[in-house]
Amino acid sequence: MHKKLFIPGPVDVREDVLEKLATPQIGHRTQEATQLQDDITKKLQKVFQTESTVLLSSSSGTGLMEGAVRSCTKNKVAVFACGAFGKKFYKICQGNNIAADLYEVEMGEAITVEFVEECLKNDDYDVITLQHNETSTGVTNPIGEIGEFLKENYPDIIFIVDTVSSMGGVNIPVDKWGIDVCITSSQKCMGLPAGFSFLSITDRAIEKARTLENRGYYFDLVMLYDKDKAKHQYPSTPSLPHMFALDYQLDRILDETLEERFKRHEEMAEVVRDFGREYFELFVKEDKYLSNTVTCIKNTKDIDIGKLNKALSEKGYMISNGYGDLKDKTFRISHMADYTLDDVNGLLNTIKDILNL
Ligand SMILES: *Cc1c(COP(=O)(O)O)cnc(C)c1O
Repeated sequence: MHKKLFIPGPVDVREDVLEKLATPQIGHRTQEATQLQDDITKKLQKVFQTESTVLLSSSSGTGLMEGAVRSCTKNKVAVFACGAFGKKFYKICQGNNIAADLYEVEMGEAITVEFVEECLKNDDYDVITLQHNETSTGVTNPIGEIGEFLKENYPDIIFIVDTVSSMGGVNIPVDKWGIDVCITSSQKCMGLPAGFSFLSITDRAIEKARTLENRGYYFDLVMLYDKDKAKHQYPSTPSLPHMFALDYQLDRILDETLEERFKRHEEMAEVVRDFGREYFELFVKEDKYLSNTVTCIKNTKDIDIGKLNKALSEKGYMISNGYGDLKDKTFRISHMADYTLDDVNGLLNTIKDILNL
């Protein structure tokens, strides 16, 4: 039986979107391929709310995270982490021999402007990285405030933001917030199968990247950028099935309108939070940092989450246990992409039935 995925990625993909994956192949050096990439990037600019160039990658989002720090760092990265995905940037830096300092806050807390301000005094950083939405804890960081602070105080720093689990589900005005490199994947709020990702990049970040050596090859953002500028094509063979489905899904997203989509995500989040508060506790310490795409619930009743998931699977659902150290201490319910309030209520009622709540 198919299980409806309420895990924070991959999420369920609509049948009509899945069908687009089976579109007959086209040559990747044809005018058709150029048109397809051009259409996609124009639509993505609307979702990202940016005038900057949007680049595609036939990899999951982690590839572009690696490409971003590798292509943009000359001196040292300040990596901010409020959970597992934040730390990923640090591991990427280590693996690429890029100088980096890791600044962590406790799980369940957000990265505040004050924290960023304190940490940036420690060294001469030219790049900072952080998550907009930390999927392991259900925290949304105040990216707009941090962007404003950087613009005023550190205008030369390249601001890299991972929006993998929020872009397409919540409002992220990339240009307004001053994000230089904004990264997301296909399999979360965008509602597509995994294995594809995209980012927006400012011209100043690209110009800086041009001055750096050893940017890697497959994830060299300058190479992706130049190929896009020249022909709206991809340097190697892209995942054309993803591109067909993405083009179609972007029309759906823009037809729904971003406003309605954000509102729907907020409504689904509120229902899950109410459930979490009523029967358990929310893991995030301050309400203003609660994520609209994934809710992390403290396992205050000490339920066996593995058992719950097994019972759920018999009813056609799947949720997620906590991430890493939080495995049995929390569980996570995602509410992203194309789910509706009815879908979410169906899940919550099933959980209540199973646990006799
Ligand atoms: C899922 C996720 C990633 C990893 O993305 P992949 O597409 O799996 O490589 C990175 N950051 C965040 C915040 C995520 O939720």
